[in-house]
Amino acid sequence: MTGKRDKYTDNQHSILYGETGGICPLCTQPILFTKPGSKPVKGYEVAHIYPLNATPAQVKILAGYPVPADINALENVIALCPSCHTKYDKDFQLAELIMLQKIKEGFLNEAQAKLTVSKYALQEEVYDILDAIATYEVDRDDLSGLNFDLATVDEKLKHGMSPLQKREIKTHAVDYYVRIRDHIKRLEQQDQYAVRVLQSQIKTYYLAMQQHHPDNKDLVFNYVAKWIGVKTNKSLLASKILTSFFVQNCEVFDVGSN
Ligand SMILES: [Zn+2]
Repeated sequence: MTGKRDKYTDNQHSILYGETGGICPLCTQPILFTKPGSKPVKGYEVAHIYPLNATPAQVKILAGYPVPADINALENVIALCPSCHTKYDKDFQLAELIMLQKIKEGFLNEAQAKLTVSKYALQEEVYDILDAIATYEVDRDDLSGLNFDLATVDEKLKHGMSPLQKREIKTHAVDYYVRIRDHIKRLEQQDQYAVRVLQSQIKTYYLAMQQHHPDNKDLVFNYVAKWIGVKTNKSLLASKILTSFFVQNCEVFDVGSN
């Protein structure tokens, strides 16, 4: 049976181009060419990840590999530069198909997380905390106020988080936990509910991300941090530090519970 190639609409092209960030996901070359004084020229093709009409050689390679429900669906196509597209189809290999599926899955996850940014509210106290974080000078010789146990972070992050991500969170916790905790205490004295509302907002977003990615705590952590950064237009690093604080502060992140 021969599959029919779909003609993708302008809006679908916008999605496919947009998710790449403007570069071919395989060779990183730009896929839209702009010249001063002329209109941008499209430099990509819509490639089927799982082949639309597999050649006999491809059929052999694909034996036993699951066929997507809809080969023409956006989930099975990706924008590639013409030379990567030709190479992918010609030297078709299962390892490359799996890699492209992974890249595409990353694009879809990223898009889905971005679309949720506006849906979830954040208390304005978060601006104040992020600004404060951005001004702290870390003094590693004076960690005298450090009265929490980093082992609890390990315990909480036992499953589904990479050693690198754990290290980042622990480093932030060591350097900033006490300062942020004290700052939040001061905010609580002004308005005892504001910080609790903020905590529950962050928890809600955390749970929403975890619902989509129950086995990937790295992704969940980074989506929460990115959400705070994009939403507030503040430093992503300060947002990561704040997110790490909430991981240490177990009321928000109960990350070891599954
Ligand atoms: Zn390419």
